[in-house]
Amino acid sequence: MSASVKLPPFDAGDPLGIDDLLEPEDLAVRETVRSWAADRVLPFVADWYESGELPGIRELAKELGSIGALGMSLSGYGCAGASAVQYGLACLELEAADSGIRSLVSVQGSLAMYAIHRFGSEEQKSRWLPAMAAGDVIGCFGLTEPDHGSDPAAMRTHARRDAGGDWVLNGRKMWITNGSVAGVAVVWAQSENGIRGFVVPTDTPGFSAPEIRHKWSLRASVTSELVMDDVRLPADAVLPEVTGLKGPLSCLSHARYGIVWGAMGAARTCFEAAVDYAKSREQFGRPIGGFQLTQAKLADMAVELHKGILLAHHLGRRMDAGRLRPEQVSFGKLNNVREAIEICRTARTILGANGISLEYPVMRHATNLESVLTYEGTVEMHQLVLGKALTGLDAFR
Ligand SMILES: Cc1cc2nc3c(=O)[nH]c(=O)nc-3n(C[C@H](O)[C@H](O)[C@H](O)COP(=O)(O)OP(=O)(O)OC[C@H]3O[C@@H](n4cnc5c(N)ncnc54)[C@H](O)[C@@H]3O)c2cc1C
Repeated sequence: MSASVKLPPFDAGDPLGIDDLLEPEDLAVRETVRSWAADRVLPFVADWYESGELPGIRELAKELGSIGALGMSLSGYGCAGASAVQYGLACLELEAADSGIRSLVSVQGSLAMYAIHRFGSEEQKSRWLPAMAAGDVIGCFGLTEPDHGSDPAAMRTHARRDAGGDWVLNGRKMWITNGSVAGVAVVWAQSENGIRGFVVPTDTPGFSAPEIRHKWSLRASVTSELVMDDVRLPADAVLPEVTGLKGPLSCLSHARYGIVWGAMGAARTCFEAAVDYAKSREQFGRPIGGFQLTQAKLADMAVELHKGILLAHHLGRRMDAGRLRPEQVSFGKLNNVREAIEICRTARTILGANGISLEYPVMRHATNLESVLTYEGTVEMHQLVLGKALTGLDAFR
């Protein structure tokens, strides 16, 4: 290293200088989402969490639409056409506020809208996507069932064609984000030709979405059952461009990519809370941040946090180049959610008893991440995906 080169100062918020990878437009997207979350989520989210409700979700959706966050990386039909990296940055900033808000955006954009955008007919796209991009219509994505989660191929919900060509849908879906506030549901069902996706207006007779209460995680998020009792749909309600499990799995891959980034947002908030606390909380006559054991925790948290963000960037650039494989998304989801939850739990220890209080964001994020660890493929599912890729041997069953 030349003696004349002046190093930039150490930046505790970005110790690896990862921001050097970002373009001015990326920084602008990040700032827009960060300041929206600072105004519209952070002042209220502890109360939402405590009450287990997300009041004003329809207004929030419209505001998210107005900043271009819904279906952000899709193009046309009123979508922002942002890069994968920009979409990831938005997920990180939203989840730094709360995983529930990021879930709202992921399900809307990466699951419901993505399914229609990628597999829908022109008529389905123009009917639903502009309204969903604006946040005027909320979407949900029904794959999981009460008895079939990790193994969706075994789903029982089925679609039968009747003599006139209509589809008749029967079955139940479980744990569906946005379900009871959705205007449209993308529902996956068995048909005589394999698994098909259906675009279901939620006011169709026979469709209902009772909300699931008593959750101790993702409390600032709407989660519901979907009940379909002889839901009659026209012939053109089916997503025409896909048959089989690859339909829902490719939507999940897109959403999981957002989680790779988002989880690091929750981790960042907990890490920052821990650093602040460690600098001001005194025991034995000095700040606890001055003890080596606390510094070891903070150093390890920072290492995993910024490695995770770097990994998210790497995967984002691969997605933008059209070179991101599903196994790489599994790699990212497995690592980043697992490390994020560990960072939040360690932050909890640094805050001592205050760590369990809603006055601080740490416990809220840690409990939220319990859901994030499970949905969009559990840890074990992603280990099996990677295990299969590494060995060529399928250990799923
Ligand atoms: C808050 C929340 C929101 C959600 N939102 C949605 C949504 O919008 N849409 C949707 O469709 N779903 C949604 N889900 C459902 C989620 O995707 C499922 O919970 C997840 O896929 C796991 O399914 P399961 O809960 O049935 O667990 P199971 O599949 O029953 O798994 C239980 C345990 O067994 C393990 N296991 C299963 N099979 C194997 C195996 N072969 N080898 C080793 N271990 C195995 C799992 O890894 C897990 O640890 C949501 C869940 C939550 C909690």
